[in-house]
Amino acid sequence: MADKKEQHSGKDLVADWERLAKVFIRPEDDASRATLIKYMERILFGLHDFLKTHVGITEAKSLRELSESYMRTDINEDPEKKLANVITCLINETAPHAVNVASPYFVGHMTSAIPFFMVHLKTIVSALNQNPVKLETSKVVSIIEKQVLAKIHRMVYGLDEDFYLKHVQNTETTLGVFTEGGTTANLTALWMARNAKFAPKNGFRGIEHEGVPAAYRAHGVNRCVILASRLVHYSLRKAAGILGIGNDNVIPVDIDDACKMKMDAFEQTIEKIRSQSPGTCILAAVGIAGATETGTVDPLGEMADICFRHGIHFHVDAAWGGPTLLSKKYKHLLAGIEKSDSVTIDGHKQFYMPMSCGMVYFRNPYIMDVVAYHANYVNRRGSVDLGIKSLSGSRETNSLILDSALKIMGSNGYALLIDHGIETAHAFAEEIRRRPDFELVTAPLLNILTYRYCPEKTREDLAGAGREKRCRINSDLNKINRDLQRTQREAGNSFVSRTTLQSAPGCPESTVVLRAVIMNPMTDMKILREILDEQQSIAERLLSTGAD
Ligand SMILES: *Cc1c(COP(=O)(O)O)cnc(C)c1O
Repeated sequence: MADKKEQHSGKDLVADWERLAKVFIRPEDDASRATLIKYMERILFGLHDFLKTHVGITEAKSLRELSESYMRTDINEDPEKKLANVITCLINETAPHAVNVASPYFVGHMTSAIPFFMVHLKTIVSALNQNPVKLETSKVVSIIEKQVLAKIHRMVYGLDEDFYLKHVQNTETTLGVFTEGGTTANLTALWMARNAKFAPKNGFRGIEHEGVPAAYRAHGVNRCVILASRLVHYSLRKAAGILGIGNDNVIPVDIDDACKMKMDAFEQTIEKIRSQSPGTCILAAVGIAGATETGTVDPLGEMADICFRHGIHFHVDAAWGGPTLLSKKYKHLLAGIEKSDSVTIDGHKQFYMPMSCGMVYFRNPYIMDVVAYHANYVNRRGSVDLGIKSLSGSRETNSLILDSALKIMGSNGYALLIDHGIETAHAFAEEIRRRPDFELVTAPLLNILTYRYCPEKTREDLAGAGREKRCRINSDLNKINRDLQRTQREAGNSFVSRTTLQSAPGCPESTVVLRAVIMNPMTDMKILREILDEQQSIAERLLSTGAD
């Protein structure tokens, strides 16, 4: 093999101008052209074949063992490997120890298989290497970005044609921005809410310029809070930390049995703050559309109405659930989202884009004026330069990937994926209910559910037990589910994640649950039954050997 030979004849691997030129300039003859095409083929098919045949999640090599092979920290002065060699190593040596998130047996996380064409689109983005931070490095790509942002804005807010004609290419307004992911999208939304709340007044030039202490003084505020259910993603807490609000000031509001925020508790919390702490400013409330742990959706319409009445910025975290709006059958599950002030959606989740792509959308196209930045050498007021009003500076042009994907799939194509996920999750829940050894803990609303190993007999014991005994049984169950999940993960045939659901008030124990996220279109009931069978036999084995 050529690769082997290259490894041995390390002599020709030197860094010099002749070789450098070859790296930058297109291949000068047909032979090198053919070589480059061959590499691309290897990436496309070598990797894809690997992902298809390698059904297991990952190879059984421990993290300890792996890290021992990655201890060198010096940078080689001369090149170590040729491109062909590097690609072969990545495919043959690295990929098998990465996680095969494309496997239909990988149903534990929000990262999954992506359509084949995404690799092509990502390659084009790299090849063009545009930078939408400013027009001079992106030109039409910035215009396409505005268009695709308007398309998704329309999916969320559904405003009229005139509105979109006015704003789609308007250089003064912003319907949304691309971010690195949901975390920075949520941060951007709260940044807008904060700056809008602490706007300039009476000689105060705004919080963005003068900082938090001056802003609080100017507005007569001594504390800001953000209200959200306790299922809120921890990125909102990070955002509160970064924005100077303090993550202790993300106040949890109670949820009901269906994991949705309780509206009476929400109103009471607002009223209590308003009446008892006049110096406290409620900066925003966050509704979740697809909670990371349970996939549940808060009552968005009601939350929006309450926020509107109280003049509170209403943000919806639809990082996960957003694309559900493309499904005619299930978009009603997100009803009320159109009344929000801002919405987070992740492209790398249910738009099935490669890592990483987040987005945030605003109902008010002028809201981003509260952060407009103008660096003289980069961009001018009223320009299309998208960097003026975004947290990111330079970034990749994810808009080209999303726009192309929407064209390739159509909303109906995406709807097929969404419907499959939701319907398979519901069928999976039925299967869990049918099995005497498992208990469904949170039923799916979208395509996420949680359950645990809990034999019928144990459930009867739990029902009849007093508080102390219940705690003991529950803690045994937590242990067995924890061990079960770990054992299954380490065996490497399939993967379901694990999380701990906080107990409801008055119930002493938190509950360790198994969490399934159904987004891979190749995941079907046959696979899910196999996963349950495996879990059942692991649990039985653990119980019979580990009788401590
Ligand atoms: C995934 C997720 C996030 C965080 O998004 P990243 O892209 O991982 O930064 C935030 N909120 C919800 C509801 C999510 O599911």
